[in-house]
Amino acid sequence: SADKLLTPITIGKTTLANRMIMAPLTRSRASQPGDVPTEMNAIYYAQRASAGLIITEATQISRQGQGYSLTPGMYTDAQEAGWKQVVDAVHAKGGKMAMQLWHVGRISNRHLQENGAAPVAPSAIQAVKSTSFVILPDGTPTRAPCDAPRALETAELPGIVADYVAAAERAMRAGFDFVEIHSANGYLLQQFLATGSNKRTDQYGGKMENRARLLLEVIDAVAAKVGADKVGVRLSPNFVAHDIVDDESEAMAMYLAEEFNRAGVAYLHIAEPDWAGGQPLSETFRTDLRQQYRGVIMTCGGYDAQTAEARLATGTADAIAFGRPFISNPDLVARYQQGAALNTPDQATFYGGDEVGYTDYPIL
Ligand code: NAD
Repeated sequence: SADKLLTPITIGKTTLANRMIMAPLTRSRASQPGDVPTEMNAIYYAQRASAGLIITEATQISRQGQGYSLTPGMYTDAQEAGWKQVVDAVHAKGGKMAMQLWHVGRISNRHLQENGAAPVAPSAIQAVKSTSFVILPDGTPTRAPCDAPRALETAELPGIVADYVAAAERAMRAGFDFVEIHSANGYLLQQFLATGSNKRTDQYGGKMENRARLLLEVIDAVAAKVGADKVGVRLSPNFVAHDIVDDESEAMAMYLAEEFNRAGVAYLHIAEPDWAGGQPLSETFRTDLRQQYRGVIMTCGGYDAQTAEARLATGTADAIAFGRPFISNPDLVARYQQGAALNTPDQATFYGGDEVGYTDYPIL
């Protein structure tokens, strides 16, 4: 049964119709050139508006923050206008929407960077076990290596914070209900958090408080502009992909939870590690995190209606985010409500392409 999942929940000052969240899902269908959201993207998201909350696909806050061709941005007027048409379509169907703000850090390639520059990272340590995806100038799609990054200067970090703030302000102007700071999955902010990728000797490296500093500065600066009750954060303790190495990720999450309380962050979104190959989160850790953090906790990672209900019943999460099931079932909420069968997602059409595998999944 899907009892608690279908009950409302309030995050900040916003009440969601249910606890089924559409997870942030990269679909690589922004229009070119310019990485601008389109009417097709608006149709896709509006089809899924019965989710309690839709979180956008990860959206780069700057050109420097892009790691894959065809992902949308939120740093130009055209991108903001494109996103406004998306949010308007979701709101028209009664949905709520968060924009996920993304800087990939070292998970990028020179082809994506201004003047072929090196990608940036906390330290000059290459992600050798990950790849970027690039459409070359001649149109050839290719899996490209993540190029060796250069370490960001201390004096550059306020500029990164400012890019997050500018994108968050654009998101508010476009009408989003929340912004979600992407500090998970091996991208820039997690590269700062993690012991393996952050070897800095300034106040942004070394002890835990220092490695957390950039994320907390981003949160404070964004919250000061848009209101903390509209700010969420995504973390992925124990995540293993994208070459992230961290022997302190659970302790860091506990420390951050306390800081999120101080900042008044509205929700904490956990990307669970197990389906990506990481060590599953222990029930002890989940319980400790629940006790530490006072806001709404949502969690994501291979749930179905049954396992989601079971998770909610433990009290360690307040809402559940679903990824692949929302790709293939625009009406996932109705299907869970009715106990109906689900469409199977087609992996071949996850990234790039047109309406096929995007807006054409059958609706009940
Ligand atoms: P993958 O290695 O198959 O592809 C990685 C990325 O390359 C895709 O996300 C997409 O941006 C791009 N890409 C690949 N094929 C493409 C195509 N034909 N056209 C356009 N773009 C294309 O990735 P995966 O196995 O799906 O994901 C690996 C891990 O990374 C997973 O854990 C996944 O959740 C995570 N991930 C996270 C984010 C994020 O946090 N924003 C984005 C992508 C993947």
